[in-house]
Amino acid sequence: MFENTLEYAKKCDATDPLASFRNNFFIPTNQAGEELVYLCGNSLGLQPKNTSEYIRLELEDWANLGVEGHTEAKHPWLPYHEFLTVSMAKIVGAKPSEVVIMNTLTTNLHLMMVSFYQPSASRYKIVIESDAFPSDKYAVESQLKFHGFDPEDGLILWAPREGEDLCRFEDLQAIMAEQGDEIALLMIGSTNYYSGQSFPLKKIVDLGHDHGCMVGFDLAHGVGNIAPNLHESGADFAVWCTYKYLNSGPGSLGGCFVHERHANNNTLKRFAGWWGHNKQTRFNMRHEFDNIPGAEGWQLSNPPILSMAAIRASLGVFEEAGLSNLREKSIKLTGYLEFLIDKLDDDRIVIITPRNAEERGCQLSIQVLAADKSLHTKLTNAGVISDWREPDVIRVAPVPLYNSFEDVYKFSVRLKEVLQ
Ligand SMILES: *Cc1c(COP(=O)(O)O)cnc(C)c1O
Repeated sequence: MFENTLEYAKKCDATDPLASFRNNFFIPTNQAGEELVYLCGNSLGLQPKNTSEYIRLELEDWANLGVEGHTEAKHPWLPYHEFLTVSMAKIVGAKPSEVVIMNTLTTNLHLMMVSFYQPSASRYKIVIESDAFPSDKYAVESQLKFHGFDPEDGLILWAPREGEDLCRFEDLQAIMAEQGDEIALLMIGSTNYYSGQSFPLKKIVDLGHDHGCMVGFDLAHGVGNIAPNLHESGADFAVWCTYKYLNSGPGSLGGCFVHERHANNNTLKRFAGWWGHNKQTRFNMRHEFDNIPGAEGWQLSNPPILSMAAIRASLGVFEEAGLSNLREKSIKLTGYLEFLIDKLDDDRIVIITPRNAEERGCQLSIQVLAADKSLHTKLTNAGVISDWREPDVIRVAPVPLYNSFEDVYKFSVRLKEVLQ
């Protein structure tokens, strides 16, 4: 159904109901002022044009009101995080009480493991996917050590088979069948950052729970990309960042999900701070810690409002575009990218991301056999912003909010040029 021509790509853009959303973003340019082909939203999402206005309003309220802004700002700072919750909950498929924006991803992962990784002498192992993002691996290993376990023994890797690039669910089943009663926690990236493989969340949760394990997900590459349906999946917890597909700026705050079955469970251990305390008595400052029910109860500090203003700007764009519309475009856009790469008909190229749209988000990971980083440099010089992972993988992520079919077409032409 696709065609390998610029005219066809332009025709797709002309009939794309979401095409105008590109105008809501700043598209980076080269020195001559020409737009780059930006396919790196999996690493850092582009800036919505209204973000600076959202931040400026908070700076203005701070200038005019000082501390009174906590209650008197147009969007009062005391409950500011609450203005993000409903939109954020929709994006991850959760109830508002299950979601909070706070801290950053790795910090939230640790906080969640404090509560949901409660090892005993016989049940202490943690399973992660073998090519997990380094920060997740460091976090999990350090939790094992913190509780006195040796990661060599306590960390189980769910790995692709020899000669394969993707993880098979049946191999996770085999791990659980063998060691399920020694495993305390499954902590899996919903969408793997390297291969682009999206995992079946509900099946993983059911499998883990059948064996008495806690199950958590890292949605860094899933949020704003796939529909994780967290509540329905039954996951115990999840964490994510907002600077990749959620376009909220470098190092912006992270998000956290705690399933409602844990909302009132006061027996869970947790690291606490005053922002997790009952809002009615928080400022009495003398009370025993009385946690807010639900995800908000895990908050530690009063949050950075300027960063939250950027998140509010971005979530507004998602509300307007609609998540299911975005996903529909995403499947077509990435399908077109896949079609064009296949059309290159180059024996050196292997798409390692699953071919099935249900098992991936927008990213394709393209292995170029016998290539080195100079290929990536050439692509960059040709005006393509992509991401290189050693030893030989280019990751490209056409983002349905701001990338066009023309972007994808241009990428394929420039990739062909630099491969020659
Ligand atoms: C981007 C990413 C991170 C980054 O963690 P920060 O704490 O936000 O720096 C961690 N894990 C995964 C899977 C990621 O993709």
